[in-house]
Amino acid sequence: MPLRCLVTGGAGFVGSHLCDRLLAEDHEVLALDNFYTGSRRNVAHLVEHPRFSLVEHDVRQPFPALGGRFDWIFHLACPASPPHYQRDPVFTSMTAVLGTLHGLERAEADGARFFQASTSEVYGDPEVHPQPESYKGSVNTLGPRACYDEGKRMGESLCMDFHRSRGVEVRIVRIFNTYGPRMNPEDGRVVSNFLMQALRGEALTLYGDGSQTRSFCFVDDLIDGFLRLMSHPTEVGPVNLGTEFEFTMRELALEVGRAVGKAPVLVHRPLPADDPTQRRPDLSRARAVLGYEPRTPLAEGLVRTAAYFAARIEEETR
Ligand code: NAD
Ligand code: UDP
Repeated sequence: MPLRCLVTGGAGFVGSHLCDRLLAEDHEVLALDNFYTGSRRNVAHLVEHPRFSLVEHDVRQPFPALGGRFDWIFHLACPASPPHYQRDPVFTSMTAVLGTLHGLERAEADGARFFQASTSEVYGDPEVHPQPESYKGSVNTLGPRACYDEGKRMGESLCMDFHRSRGVEVRIVRIFNTYGPRMNPEDGRVVSNFLMQALRGEALTLYGDGSQTRSFCFVDDLIDGFLRLMSHPTEVGPVNLGTEFEFTMRELALEVGRAVGKAPVLVHRPLPADDPTQRRPDLSRARAVLGYEPRTPLAEGLVRTAAYFAARIEEETR
């Protein structure tokens, strides 16, 4: 049955792919965004779509009327890359906390199901590896990443309180590092930095000694997990989504070199404060409850993402 869906952060990297997928499944989609890190170009191909609309709004403010009730509310609005969420940390905390509060209030008023895009950052610099959902995390409340990590932890907490005390149906995912076309080239995350640097013939900026690990998920696989959880009749989560392909950043640099067909040159930069040393999801729950299985190998996903960035660079130089 076609549903009326609200996607906050719908002009962002992940949000725009979610809008595509919901429209392809015949739903009606309203994307809400203030373009802090996202852009109109991410949804430019949708503006003429009869079931799509885009509204400029800052989720720190209560949501406007938006033409009636929603069935599903996907809450993604929040800067996600460390340089961007640390640019104005108070903005980030307030976006994470007030944005979730306003989304939940709207879900309660509409009787909508609410989806929370939480993060592996709730595990901080984890002492348990890989990370199952039962792990409570190791976050430095005082560090420069806390605005995001603690904001997202509070977001989960608000979801559970609205669920338990006000009967709102919630779905929580913890997203591990995801990449793909439509990442902002100036995003500052490692995949976009390395690909843009490699394509421009620049040295790749390796932070620290490059031995820290991450597990990278192609965006299509992530969206598949979103829809599986949101369609589930009862599962609240949290559910980890990502892949188990764990790489050091040094290995990632080599993979990026292979994807663009050039041996990478590395330049070392200091490791940022509180940078997690390792990260890989335990996907047992996602598999058991959702039948989730990420399919895209890193090599393939990087080639597809490199093609997107190459087109952006070509546009810039035209
Ligand atoms: P993104 O920066 O591309 O998208 C975030 C979107 O939210 C942007 O369009 C931005 O303009 C919008 N936004 C930010 N603050 C806002 C505000 N106050 N009001 C309205 N809109 C606002 O990042 P993304 O990678 O697409 O991340 C989407 C969501 O997924 C975020 O909530 C992020 O925390 C979560 N997440 C992403 C990853 C990842 O690896 N991509 C990992 C963990 C969690
Ligand atoms: N990183 C790097 N070079 C860059 C950007 C990031 O070596 O140009 C490292 C960063 O220190 C971290 C990892 O890559 O260890 C992933 O960083 P990202 O910002 O993509 O995500 P997060 O730290 O939030 O997982």
